Formats: sequence, C-alpha cells, structure tokens
Amino acid sequence: MRVLLHVCCGPCSIATVRMLRDEGHEVTALFLNPNIHPVQEYLRRREAMQEVSRRLDLPVIWRDAEYDPAAWMRQMAWREQPGVRCRVCYATRLERTHAIAARGGYDAFATSLLYSRRQRHDMIAEVGHGIAADCSNGADGSVPFLYRDFRTGWQEGIDTSREWGIHRQNYCGCLYSEAERFARDFAKVTGVKEKQAKA
Ligand code: SF4
Repeated sequence: MRVLLHVCCGPCSIATVRMLRDEGHEVTALFLNPNIHPVQEYLRRREAMQEVSRRLDLPVIWRDAEYDPAAWMRQMAWREQPGVRCRVCYATRLERTHAIAARGGYDAFATSLLYSRRQRHDMIAEVGHGIAADCSNGADGSVPFLYRDFRTGWQEGIDTSREWGIHRQNYCGCLYSEAERFARDFAKVTGVKEKQAKA
C-alpha cells in the first residue's frame, strides 16, 4: 500500500518507517507539526528528520508553511489541560494528514506518534480511526487509518538515533509540555512550588 506517514520527529520515525516497509508498504513521510515550541526546537527536529530522510532514502512532504505557533496557541485557549489539549493537537495534525492523503490518492495514513511510549497511544488510535470514519462521506473520500503499535521498535529508534547523532528532544513539543517537563528544575532554582499538571 502507499502510506502517508505523519512524522513528529526524526527519532520516532526510524523504527516506524522500517516496520511499515517490512510489511511491504511504500512510505511517504509528512512533516507537519505546528505544535512545536519554540522555533529553534522546530528547526532542530526538522533537521533530524532531514537526516532520517537521507539515511532511509525516505521521501518527505514538508509543510513548513503550516507552522504558525500563534494560531496554534489560540486554538488551545481554555483547553490547556493535557488530556484535552493533546486530543486537539493529535486531531489537528491527523486531520491534515488525512486530507493530504485523500488528495494524493494514498491507500492509508498513519503516524509516528504511535511509536512513542510517552504519548497517549489509545487516544491517538481513537482520533485516527475517528477521522477516517468521519470523512467517509466527504468530497475527497475517506482514507483508512493504519494503526500499528510501533512502540515495539522503541529501543531500536533510540539506539539508531544515538548512533546517527540526531537530535533527541526531551519534551513532547508544545510550550505547556516544556513547562511541565522542567517544572522540577524551575522549582529547584527559583524556590517557587512545582505546580501539578491536571489530566
Ligand atoms: S503535550 Fe504534546 S501532544 Fe500534547 S498538546 Fe503538547 S505537543 Fe501536543
């Protein structure tokens, strides 16, 4: 099958692409991540993805024109809680992936987000299947969501990205996830009590 694979970053893409290719699929990657904050981090992840593309001879569709951090933040207003905002964040990226897959005549769409043990795996699967079902009567037609548990390739992705020396991020992507990731450091340095993120 021709699969359009949404890729969130280089390290999460490595095992994901290999597993899909092992099944015989022809994979095209789509880099579309308006959630990443700040711009420098976006560029670092983009560079890592370029390196993965080069190493795996993987075609990538770059949607840098859709990187609009201000619009992304406006979309998240009053929905900042992790369980709420992540659903919106997944849906935003997968809806665009589905639309591009439909227009491009792909047989299925998938996402490297399903590789990460740190993501809300079941929510991603639910969102992906939901988009495919909701679009079944649309003008562009529906493209099936290809669900796989890519987490089985977790260690392979880490080992290979270390070997290749590509950027491995230490927070999910958005400003909120960065603040949560470093809340303890912030509290230690400033003495301001750590706030608990509410799911
Ligand atoms: S934590 Fe990750 S998935 Fe959730 S909103 Fe932020 S960038 Fe998106």
